[in-house]
Amino acid sequence: MAKITMKTPLVEMDGDEMTRILWGMIKDELIGPFVELKTEYFDLGLKRRDETDDQITIDSAEATKRLGVAVKCATITPNDARVEEYSLKKMYKSPNGTIRSILDGTVFRAPILVKGITPHVWNWKKPITIARHAYGDVYKNTEMRIDGPGKAELVFTGSDGKERRELIHEFDGPGVIQGMHNLDRSIESFARSCFEFALSRREKLMFASKDTISKTYDGAFRDIFARIFEEEYRAKFEEAGIEYFYTLIDDAVARIMRSEGGEIWACKNYDGDVMSDMISSACGSLAMMTSILVSPSGVFEYEAAHGTVQRHYYKYLKGEETSTNPVATIFAWSGALRKRGELDNLPELMDFAGKLEKSTIDTIEAGEMTKDLALITTLDNVRALNTEDFIGAVRSRMVS
Ligand code: NAP
Ligand code: MG
Repeated sequence: MAKITMKTPLVEMDGDEMTRILWGMIKDELIGPFVELKTEYFDLGLKRRDETDDQITIDSAEATKRLGVAVKCATITPNDARVEEYSLKKMYKSPNGTIRSILDGTVFRAPILVKGITPHVWNWKKPITIARHAYGDVYKNTEMRIDGPGKAELVFTGSDGKERRELIHEFDGPGVIQGMHNLDRSIESFARSCFEFALSRREKLMFASKDTISKTYDGAFRDIFARIFEEEYRAKFEEAGIEYFYTLIDDAVARIMRSEGGEIWACKNYDGDVMSDMISSACGSLAMMTSILVSPSGVFEYEAAHGTVQRHYYKYLKGEETSTNPVATIFAWSGALRKRGELDNLPELMDFAGKLEKSTIDTIEAGEMTKDLALITTLDNVRALNTEDFIGAVRSRMVS
């Protein structure tokens, strides 16, 4: 069988620990035999980041801007223990944070649904994707504990020296206050990333906030989304046969609980933090959750939502058997290959991505799965496989 050829390379960002092991297996067993893989390779493993003073992370993000599509392995975000373990020159920032700020992107998280791993919400038949705004609000707040009576005010001093003041509260006893902010340009990027992603998925998009209470702050989010939609996206959405609508967050929650899925829910920073955990825990396992970073210019980076699975890696290093679930990492590859195929007009590459995903899902639905899923499945006659055997079982479906 002739291998599929690619036109433009993918940006390949290798990573750390157990997911780095999975990375190699997926390339060798599930992609290499079928696709003449073209990638620009960046090793974001912690050792290489340290050797390059983290320049490799910046280079990989710049390459993603240039080539349009990247696939990323999970990476260690160093803490004190890691600085010691790897004798690091310094405590580097999270690679995901660095890449996200260079691409100015929004992260979209969606579960991979299979029969036998049933969402706790029975009517969710298709994935619900959460888009979380990743700048500002309570995550960049300033807080103050108030000890006793006094007046709290919000003060803005313009660069021309002019002051504006609003009373927050006249305190008659102890309490707390908090200040937070956001930026039009960040909200605009968030909105464009959401519209781009909805178009690429051909799924409807909902954005919700609490604009009935927070009339100026949340109202700004609502109005920026509305303006960009009207000016840049309404015609494209109509052509794609999808809709965008804004609603109150309370209504959004009610709709999601009754939804059958297959839609994108754009959330402010805090709502996205909480709601993405709700969706992932309702859908079973972090190992079945994908994560896609989309820039407002329409650049895509695909990865698994979980980390480097450190505990399994230490077992692997001792030569013990592991049963690590590679599904989200497989779907990161298939997502990136499909997008590459779409951009380069290579239907055979897009078909390959579909076949890889179907083989993976068929394997699980036939009762062959890693331990994390075997523990929660409703299927009978389940075989819990180790990492290699699971990938082997997917491979056997690729060639049959
Ligand atoms: P983790 O790697 O997501 O793993 C936490 C636990 O979840 C594992 O010990 C395992 O549970 C289970 N798990 C996660 N993925 C699994 C999979 N594919 N198959 C089977 N079980 C899976 O999180 P962590 O241990 O907190 O973090 C490890 C490292 O990952 C850290 O250095 C962190 O900085 C990094 N991290 C990176 C990213 C990223 O690059 N996007 C995201 C998060 C964390 P059991 O041990 O019970 O089997
Ligand atoms: Mg959270």
